Amino acid sequence: SGKFFVGGNWKCNGTKESIGKLISDLNSAKLESDVDVVVAPPFIYIDQVKSSLTDRMEVSAQNCWIGKGGAFTGEISGEQLKDIGCKWVILGHSERRHIIGEDDEFIGKKAAYALGQGLGVIACIGELLQEREEGKTFDVCYKQLKAFADAVPSWDDVVIAYEPVWAIGTGKVATPQQAQEVHVAVRDWLIKNVSAEVASKTRIIYGGSVNGSNCADLAKQEDIDGFLVGGASLKGPEFATIVNSVT
Ligand code: 13P
Repeated sequence: SGKFFVGGNWKCNGTKESIGKLISDLNSAKLESDVDVVVAPPFIYIDQVKSSLTDRMEVSAQNCWIGKGGAFTGEISGEQLKDIGCKWVILGHSERRHIIGEDDEFIGKKAAYALGQGLGVIACIGELLQEREEGKTFDVCYKQLKAFADAVPSWDDVVIAYEPVWAIGTGKVATPQQAQEVHVAVRDWLIKNVSAEVASKTRIIYGGSVNGSNCADLAKQEDIDGFLVGGASLKGPEFATIVNSVT
């Protein structure tokens, strides 16, 4: 449901030079027209990317501050992201939850503020391996979803990214069935707790070891509306293959 959406999360990677090469590869790639394509460089390279990437693609940040700017050393505000032409921000990524220690409430506040500034939010959820093994996958995802639902005024500009933590950067991609099962559960949760309309309109994308070889089978799943790609988004041609896996 909704237009296929593929995001490239570059994480803390790249130099002016490598990013320049990646941009030129992306600019010359043939991308299916029926796909929203977004790339998320580190903050300091957003301006470089904005000024050289074609309008075919949009730019996202990987994080932002929870409110208005001011005396918050080291932070970047939603207003500043808008100012440099950023359209999106990734929030609640597992690396920020589990390495930096951001919690549900903090992430919810960030999402509400960013939406208020007119940014789109890529809202990430996903369970740890231990949680999956203990049969808690749905409970963990529902709790993370609820924190977003409690905070956001509207789902119009939200894309949900299901990224099981055990699949991120490990090469252990979820099977199409595993991903589809959680995407259906997320959609059901939205039907019951938000509305049928939001559930059918909101894109639910999958992330975690997506690459040029496994994307096609995942993309065939009814409830997989796109991808959030880490490692493979640093290679232009492979990222293009993933974009073009739209069915
Ligand atoms: P990988 O594609 O490198 O597993 O990373 C996924 C991810 O975390 C995207 O946000």
